[in-house]
Amino acid sequence: MSDARLRELERRWKETGSADDEGAYLLERVRVGDLTRERLELAAYCGHEGARRAVGDVSECPGEPAHWLGGFLRWGAEAFTKAVLAVVPPLHRRLWSDNPYLPVSGDFFAAAQRWCECPCQPHADEMDSLLSDAHDNTLAEERHAEAVGQCRGTSLRGHALAAEAAAMVAIVMARRGRSAEAQFLAYRFQLSAVASEFVSSDLVWRLVSEAFGVSAGHCGGRVSDLAVPPEGGLA
Ligand SMILES: [Zn+2]
Repeated sequence: MSDARLRELERRWKETGSADDEGAYLLERVRVGDLTRERLELAAYCGHEGARRAVGDVSECPGEPAHWLGGFLRWGAEAFTKAVLAVVPPLHRRLWSDNPYLPVSGDFFAAAQRWCECPCQPHADEMDSLLSDAHDNTLAEERHAEAVGQCRGTSLRGHALAAEAAAMVAIVMARRGRSAEAQFLAYRFQLSAVASEFVSSDLVWRLVSEAFGVSAGHCGGRVSDLAVPPEGGLA
């Protein structure tokens, strides 16, 4: 019976293509247990229009950009890390292609990516070992302060460096359950990334949304699938 209703809502959505109809279909998927409420809310947060209708989100999309990244903490450290990592590659390529300063960050981000995709203990240990070698908490914070100091020289690379350092510490803070610090550092990360001129606010939103399976159309955009991350990727 509920299955028939689901098919009917799906058929109607595919016929009209309207966000309201998609929202109704997605809500029914939640009701029958085919989609979790958490994932629906995450998709809405990423700007998926049907999901936004489903959860009744009528806010500006995607909301205040500098605080948006930190908002992923609501879905746990893995989701937050995934969001931060989505923005790192363009900065990283630009920053490290011809400058070996802090080369450990590449290894760190690669390990963070592996942990994010498979948050098991061995992957956590791998990340921790990189941190204890070169970026334990205190050191990372010092690096961040140092990088922020460099920004005062208005060097674009300095901004990019500050962004990466903030990203690394933010991931560590999220892993340690220190949400307030992670949120603050996410804010610093985004501001520094945008100041570096390598990553615009719009690009941040696009990269992160795509990482969660929401296409680049921003509000009203199409979605490949509501899949968000694969099973196990989110708590
Ligand atoms: Zn793992």
